[in-house]
Amino acid sequence: MHELKIAEELIGIITEVAKSENLKKVTKVNIQFGKMIMIVPDVFRFVFEGGVKGTVAKSAKLNLEILPVKFACNKCKEETEIDDLLFVCPYCGSNDLDLTQGRETIIESIEGEKC
Ligand SMILES: [Zn+2]
Repeated sequence: MHELKIAEELIGIITEVAKSENLKKVTKVNIQFGKMIMIVPDVFRFVFEGGVKGTVAKSAKLNLEILPVKFACNKCKEETEIDDLLFVCPYCGSNDLDLTQGRETIIESIEGEKC
């Protein structure tokens, strides 16, 4: 269950940001994951809610967004969103692809109330 490790890391960052921004309370956290991180949103939500207990983010609303996997083809230069993880360009059939999106773990924004 790698959600736990990721949640712990993100909670660490969130509490650091809250501290440096003088937030008395974090009200909302927007997080984006690339699809290839293989996050199960319900599992993440569960471990996140457990992990923020007793922290400044304990009542934060968690917004999760899963970003689709995108590749740029090195042969025909098309960019494509790939739903099943078949690493073949749908335009030219080449497998010479660069991942351009899908491995992100991003805290997009943190909202809260100032002290
Ligand atoms: Zn191609």
